[in-house]
Amino acid sequence: MAELTRSYEKYFRQNRLPHLWCPGCGNGIAMKAIVQAIEKQGWTQDNTVIVSGIGCSSRASGYMDFDTLHTAHGRAIPFATGIKLARPELNVVVITGDGDCCAIGGNHFIHGCRRNVDLTVVLFNNAIYGMTGGQASPMTPLGGKATTTPYGSVDRPFDPCHLAKAAGATFVARSTAFHVQHMTDMIAQGMASRGFSFIETQVQCPTSYGRRNKMPSPAEMLKWLQQHAVLKPAWDRLDREKKKAYILDHKFPIGVLHQAKRPELDYDAAYDQVIERAQGVKA
Ligand code: SF4
Repeated sequence: MAELTRSYEKYFRQNRLPHLWCPGCGNGIAMKAIVQAIEKQGWTQDNTVIVSGIGCSSRASGYMDFDTLHTAHGRAIPFATGIKLARPELNVVVITGDGDCCAIGGNHFIHGCRRNVDLTVVLFNNAIYGMTGGQASPMTPLGGKATTTPYGSVDRPFDPCHLAKAAGATFVARSTAFHVQHMTDMIAQGMASRGFSFIETQVQCPTSYGRRNKMPSPAEMLKWLQQHAVLKPAWDRLDREKKKAYILDHKFPIGVLHQAKRPELDYDAAYDQVIERAQGVKA
């Protein structure tokens, strides 16, 4: 309980508050989970960099009192990669949204995973483009209503955790805004893991998604997350038929979904070797 009630004020730029997120938005929950995880890891405001793209989620970097970069749409991962290569001793956290990471930034996401750059990428997945007025994103569920899909989306969303694993990320996890302590724990585990760590946090957007999809209140959206998230060990015990039924019912596993070690050198170390070779230090 002490964890929940203590103040994390020092991690936020007081002169940038109040924030512009709507009442009941889930972004603040995920942002606080990140600072709790940073503290849990023993990282500091001086050795941690926060990089974000564009969108409601990405406004978080402006509120956080770290060295921060609010970059171009979809480009947070390449900016973060550059920081990590130039200053490998720094801890680099990327905050991104589903439009930012999985649409315009989709290729950068794939190649960040492929290179296994030592970053912690936290996706705030609210299943819609919130800031620009509620257009469908690649995470909008089948049948989901958005300003661009007023009769229900016919585009199947993809699973960003599956994609991260397939592309080479070495730590992949999922949590939700309902499971606050679990979310902090997933992010902290991702920070502790070397290589590309990807944590999908499912967060509610009552304004652009909820009110178009029969969940106008933040409480209803949180209840939906509670009722549809299944802890990974329980998910793994489901037989094939039951799992199929759960998936059709939009249920999904939360927890650590994938963890691996890759045999090659860390990306920044491999890159340093290339520099040495180019400078003729090594043949
Ligand atoms: Fe949050 Fe949605 Fe409002 Fe954006 S539009 S601040 S995601 S509730």
